[in-house]
Amino acid sequence: MAGKIPPEFIDNLLSRVDVVDVINQRVPLQRAGSEYKACCPFHDEKTPSFTVSPAKQFYHCFGCGAHGSAIGFLMEYDRLSFPEAVEELATSVGLELPREIAFESGPDNRPLYEILERAANWFASQLREHPTAPEAAHYLKERGLSGEVAATFRIGYAPPGWSNLLNSLGKTPQERELLQRTGLLSEGRGKQYDRFRNRIIFPIRDSRGRVVGFGGRILGDDTPKYLNSPETPVFHKGRELYGLYEARQALKKIPRMLVVEGYMDVVALAQFGIRNVVATLGTATTADHLEKLFRITPEVVFCFDGDRAGRDAAWKALETALPLLRDSRQARFLFLPEGEDPDTQVRSEGAEAFAQRVEQAMPLSDFLFDKLAGEVDMTTLDGRARLVSLAQPHLERLPQGVFREMMEARLADLSGTKRRQNRPMNRRRNRLPQHQPGTLKPLHRAIALLLQYPRLAQLENLPGGWETLDGQGVTILRQLLETLQHNPHFTTAILLEHWQDDTIRPHLGKLAATPLMVFDDEAEQFTGCLEKLAAEARQKQVRAIGNKLRPSDMTEEEKEQLRRLYSGKE
Ligand SMILES: [Zn+2]
Repeated sequence: MAGKIPPEFIDNLLSRVDVVDVINQRVPLQRAGSEYKACCPFHDEKTPSFTVSPAKQFYHCFGCGAHGSAIGFLMEYDRLSFPEAVEELATSVGLELPREIAFESGPDNRPLYEILERAANWFASQLREHPTAPEAAHYLKERGLSGEVAATFRIGYAPPGWSNLLNSLGKTPQERELLQRTGLLSEGRGKQYDRFRNRIIFPIRDSRGRVVGFGGRILGDDTPKYLNSPETPVFHKGRELYGLYEARQALKKIPRMLVVEGYMDVVALAQFGIRNVVATLGTATTADHLEKLFRITPEVVFCFDGDRAGRDAAWKALETALPLLRDSRQARFLFLPEGEDPDTQVRSEGAEAFAQRVEQAMPLSDFLFDKLAGEVDMTTLDGRARLVSLAQPHLERLPQGVFREMMEARLADLSGTKRRQNRPMNRRRNRLPQHQPGTLKPLHRAIALLLQYPRLAQLENLPGGWETLDGQGVTILRQLLETLQHNPHFTTAILLEHWQDDTIRPHLGKLAATPLMVFDDEAEQFTGCLEKLAAEARQKQVRAIGNKLRPSDMTEEEKEQLRRLYSGKE
């Protein structure tokens, strides 16, 4: 699969992304000198041994040996395939994907995306041009929406009538078929007609910005109030989030994301400058939704109406979130006064007060224990024991880690029971044998230096002669040098991705991550290694020729070569 992605694309991509940003969005990093540190997300530890180097564009963990580039990190951490990780990164820096990956999965859906895009433009044009447009514009204006926000979200209008879109975009049988397949047309009694009629239209975009479906809010009192595109080959409600693309366009970093229930909430909050908001599309929040969100933010705040239905929906969201709450991830709950939604709330109290509410949203732990404690009589021993049995199954769904330990401790406090001593939580230290600095053989040391300081390849007058040595390592060293001489901008990460599919890549990765204890003499060290290798090559040649014991067995050429070797000029 990886072979299909042009290597130049990978190079270009890795030179645009910053591995520090990519990781920091998922695992908060601390600066430590010229590098960054954190507790390793891939093994349990209390002191940070996970290091990210901005210069090398590379991470590695001294504890468990995990290492790699931004692509590798996404593959490991977000559990993405190689093409998915490439896609994710490309999207984040606004790089257009090569066709090889953009369309490699499944059937060619391009015509579907094209007709959806045309439909989005058509709906937008109706908001300006249709004779009944003033009614729609009035609705938006009443809600305080500016033209700017309407344009950002590409808000449109489906006029009343059964065949406006059908007649405008469905001129050929092929077009009508595409409109049908993308859910823009419905069918009844053998006749096709517009699905969206007399509605404000909200185009739903996927994480690449492609229109994949629409949501429509009725104008007037008809039902249903909200209508979405049906599931289609390109639109899956359980995966898409309204506003996610727009939020990522607006914000470079998203320390926290708000999840609301309606498109109007997203748009209204955007109007007040609150851009870190997404909406589910008429479904409960799914694990897919949350995985998607936690890839770009460490904290998700669910926003619900404070009534009974809202609390039930929040509990459902909590249950979905539990297994996904690794240490760096947080979920909180914001309950609005009954009868309010974010749209009405922000318009009545303004952005600052609303932001304050978000700030004070209830931590997941409070919500969980408050709810369960409300179901038992906490004043009795029995009640407290019951709390333990109610809470335990939930806590067991949390991933191992500090957060789970804290939750268990809190349960023990609340219930007055002694905490179960089921620690230490698999404190496996599968430490890889670490190369001690200085114990690397010159060849491996030269490769490690080159991987870690790619600019060494640009040194002039590098010692030669070592190239005649046999072995895979020598070939790799030569290839590395050549690659770097042709591509002086390559970082460690890019270099390694060049060997993505190769069996030697793990070894290179290990060398790239080996601490070398060089301070500012890496050029000297590298030259030294090459000189040692050259000397080794010389000795080998001397021995090879020397094996022919008598000079009379040697050709003139060999005698000359031997003289030169002894004089050290080769
Ligand atoms: Zn580790």
